[in-house]
Amino acid sequence: VRILAYESSCDETSTAVIKNGTDIESLVVATQIKSHQRFGGVVPEVASRHHIEVISQITKEALNEANATWDDIDAIAVTYGPGLVGALLIGVSAAKAASMATGIPLIGVDHIMGHIMAAQLKDKIEYPALALQVSGGHTEIVLMKDPIHFEIIGDTRDDAAGEAYDKIGRVLGVNYPAGKTIDSWAHQGKDTFNFPRAMMEDDDYDFSFSGLKSAFINTCHHADQIHEELNKYDLAASFQAAVIDVLAHKTVRALKQYQPKTFIMGGGVAANHGLRDRMSAEIEKLPKNIQPKVILPDIKLCGDNAAMIGAAAYNLYNAGKFADLTLNADPSLELPYADNMLN
Ligand code: ATP
Ligand code: MG
Ligand code: FE
Repeated sequence: VRILAYESSCDETSTAVIKNGTDIESLVVATQIKSHQRFGGVVPEVASRHHIEVISQITKEALNEANATWDDIDAIAVTYGPGLVGALLIGVSAAKAASMATGIPLIGVDHIMGHIMAAQLKDKIEYPALALQVSGGHTEIVLMKDPIHFEIIGDTRDDAAGEAYDKIGRVLGVNYPAGKTIDSWAHQGKDTFNFPRAMMEDDDYDFSFSGLKSAFINTCHHADQIHEELNKYDLAASFQAAVIDVLAHKTVRALKQYQPKTFIMGGGVAANHGLRDRMSAEIEKLPKNIQPKVILPDIKLCGDNAAMIGAAAYNLYNAGKFADLTLNADPSLELPYADNMLN
């Protein structure tokens, strides 16, 4: 089964051809980051304009690179939410037009389901599985009983982890998106500031990062006022240690409670070296009989890309979950409802 997939939910336009949900025959990612950097974040209107400029060209590129024509494609998949509505609509319209012109069936994919399924491109997922989804807009612990049924058991009450990285990065003068730079600074510093770890004692799997963000910003402003120079590497290390401590603590609790066969990390923040190392170490500390298989997606597949959408779409294809030409963008699509939206 060959799937041509589209992703345009935020600031990356991407197309891919994926075979059997696991093999990347081609992947094209056109990033717009440079156009948004001077604004310090993604400007929706600018994003849509860039998507429409490149989407036809990168559709051809994905087919060419895979040595395929439309005749070789069994399904056309597209991210229909969550994300920026105008950005999503470009991918949804392109996929619907292609489906209508060729008669190839259409599959609507939840962007977060896609992030989690980046793991499927690396190794076989055994179910039940548990995922830590950490990205620019989401911080969730997700339980999966099979490849298409997902349940969110933990969520952030305020900021997402990636959003917190980007906001504190701005205070340190780091270009958007800041996560990668803060991650590398963190490795050159020490946890000297002892920032708050929120909700560690709570009897749930939820997160909160706004208190940490405020503590970080207040520390920087106070130092500014008294003309004290703070070490940016130590600031980054202290921030990152606090983020990783809470993510690891809640995830380990969920792993002990649900004892899944596979543990997955997904989303842009899953590229974080400190978090990857910490989660691997925590899992090695679990009793042998409940140690899940660990799948950390390739770093380049943690950010937004169409390969992960093609991987998720393959599972929906096998389950007969197709969309029709009424498919629309849903900017606030949520995982537990994703299945209800499908036919
Ligand atoms: P969502 O997927 O929740 O809808 P999004 O698509 O904007 O949001 P992604 O593209 O998955 O998010 O991830 C981007 C985020 O990942 C940014 O906030 C970025 O700073 C963060 N990020 C990227 N690399 C790293 C890293 N090494 N460490 C921490 N954060 C990182
Ligand atoms: Mg992005
Ligand atoms: Fe994303």
